[in-house]
Formats: sequence, C-alpha cells, structure tokens
Amino acid sequence: MTPLLEVEGLTKHFELGRNETVHAVDDVSLAIAPREIVGLVGESGSGKSTFGKTLLGLHDKTAGTVRFKGEELPARYGAAHFRRYARAMQMIFQDPYSSLNPRMTVGEIVGEGLKLHTRLGSAEIRERVTEWLTRVGLNAGHLSRYPHEFSGGQRQRIGIARALIMAPEFVVCDEPISALDVSVQAQVVNLLAELKESMGLTMLFIAHDLSMVRYVSDRMAVMYLGSLIELGPANRVFFHPKHPYTQMLVGSNPEPDPASERHRPATAIRGEIPSPVNVQPGCRFANRCPQVMDMCRAETPALKAVADEGAGERIVACHLY
Ligand code: ADP
Ligand code: MG
Repeated sequence: MTPLLEVEGLTKHFELGRNETVHAVDDVSLAIAPREIVGLVGESGSGKSTFGKTLLGLHDKTAGTVRFKGEELPARYGAAHFRRYARAMQMIFQDPYSSLNPRMTVGEIVGEGLKLHTRLGSAEIRERVTEWLTRVGLNAGHLSRYPHEFSGGQRQRIGIARALIMAPEFVVCDEPISALDVSVQAQVVNLLAELKESMGLTMLFIAHDLSMVRYVSDRMAVMYLGSLIELGPANRVFFHPKHPYTQMLVGSNPEPDPASERHRPATAIRGEIPSPVNVQPGCRFANRCPQVMDMCRAETPALKAVADEGAGERIVACHLY
C-alpha cells in the first residue's frame, strides 16, 4: 500500500550562533500508512515536537523530504501550499495553555481555519464550529468565551476541535494528554480513538506515557536525542523492547499497563538526556547505556531490520544487533 505520508532523512538543526548547532532532529525516516496511528515516544528533549512540526512545514527543514500521498511537499510553503495542505494536515499542539490565542474567542479560534482556507460564509462556519464544540464535549454557550475561562482539559478539546474541523487526513497529536489529570486523559484518548474511527484519520501520536501510546497506536517509534532508534508494532516494542534505551523507557514507565500480566522489573532511568548541541559521533545513548561496548563510542549504529517473533517489521539502531 502507498503510504499516506513518507518522511525521508528529515533533519532539523537550530543554529545558536557561536558555532553551536542544536541537532533537534537528525536523518529521521518514517512512512505512515493510511489510517495508521504511529506513536512517537522518547524523553523530553528527544526531538519529538520538532519532528512533528518540521514534517508539517511549521519549521523550515534543514534536510530531507516529506511526501504526502506521493507528492513532495515544498521546502518552503507559499500561501497556496498552506491553502492546499493546511486542510489536509493538522497539528494538535502540546501545550493547551500557550497554543490558543488569549484574545480570540473560542468561536474565532475553532473557526479560524475555515475562515482562512475555505469560502464558507460566517453563518455556516458558526454552525460547523458549534457542531464541533459539541463533538468534543463542549457546547454552543462556549462560543463567545475566551481560553482563560477554561480548564486544561477543555482547552485541549478546543485544540482538538480547531484541528479536526478542517477534516484533515493526517494529524500530528503532540502530547495531547500530558497536561491533564488521569480521568480527563482517558476521556481525551477515547475521543481521539472515536474520531479516528469515524473520520478515518491517520495520526502521529506523540506522548511520553508508553502504555497510553501502546493503547492507541499500531506502531511505536522511539526517538533519542534527535535520532530514530527503534520502530515496530506497538505491542512488540512495548512488551519486547530491543534497544537498551527503549528497555529503560519501558522499565521506567510510571504507569504499569494494567492489561498486562507480565511483571516488569522497575528499572530507574539512568542519568539524563544530554544536550543536543554539537553531538559527537558514535551512538548517542552510549554514555547512559548499561550494555555499552567500545565500538558504540566510535561508530554510529545504523537502523537495521532485526528478527522478531511477531508480525511486522522491527528496526533498531544498536550495535548489539
Ligand atoms: P521533545 O518534543 O521530544 O521534548 P523538542 O523537539 O521540543 O523535543 O526539542 C528537541 C531539542 O531541540 C531540545 O534540545 C530543544 O531545546 C531544542 N529546540 C526545540 N526548538 C528549538 C528552537 N526553536 N531553537 C533552538 N532549540 C530548539
Ligand atoms: Mg515536545
């Protein structure tokens, strides 16, 4: 099947001056099939948000290509591209507090995309906005209110309505739940799962709660310090992680999966993610890896396919394999 989205060698560096370069995303390739949900995990600072924003064209990319339905997206978006892709590709942002304009009403926020990118009149826009507010569990009475009048969970719902009202084909959900308390998290996840079914959405679902990602995703991708280091069916990666970093992430997962009978030993996260400024050659995880070998500090491990009992391809970037 032709992937809906094909990302090849995507790289995003931020130049800080004084010869300092932040390697936020380095050479990441990933193809997502229509209606597939790929979960993207990794500690804070591993480049997940930058990857999502860069593939949508919200950052200028340093290198790489992104194809949507086989068509290569331009390096820089002009107004015409925005009109064309803004409807098809949407982002639900990580922070429900800073991503909504405080001076716009909820009606204006949710209706803005339709106003900018379609020819719908204001009555019709208002009707669709009301419909979407109801769909995400808000109501018409909220139309003329401002973001500060809402809780974190409600703001997240406003962000979801703003993205999905465009009837996108592909959505990046950036930690759509991490700012919310557990009961609200479950509601938002169920809402996304429901919308995925009814709209046939394809999603990149970014989160650091691995059990949540396992629950919603078909495949799981793991990033560490700008690199993709493991990719495979979500259940296989979660229950049988191959990369020592993924093993550490799974072991430190704050909420053990209640559906799992398996008892995983609780391993503490060792050390902290290093700075992505001017990264050195070799495996980026070497200084924290319990199984580090001499070659890990010298040679960058390439992603390769490894054998696995389950169905579906597994790839890992580690000299152990
Ligand atoms: P994640 O979403 O996995 O937490 P991010 O993509 O937000 O990671 O960040 C990856 C790295 O890139 C971090 O070190 C972050 O500080 C850096 N970074 C992100 N945005 C910028 C920017 N606009 N300018 C400079 N560095 C940035
Ligand atoms: Mg992020």
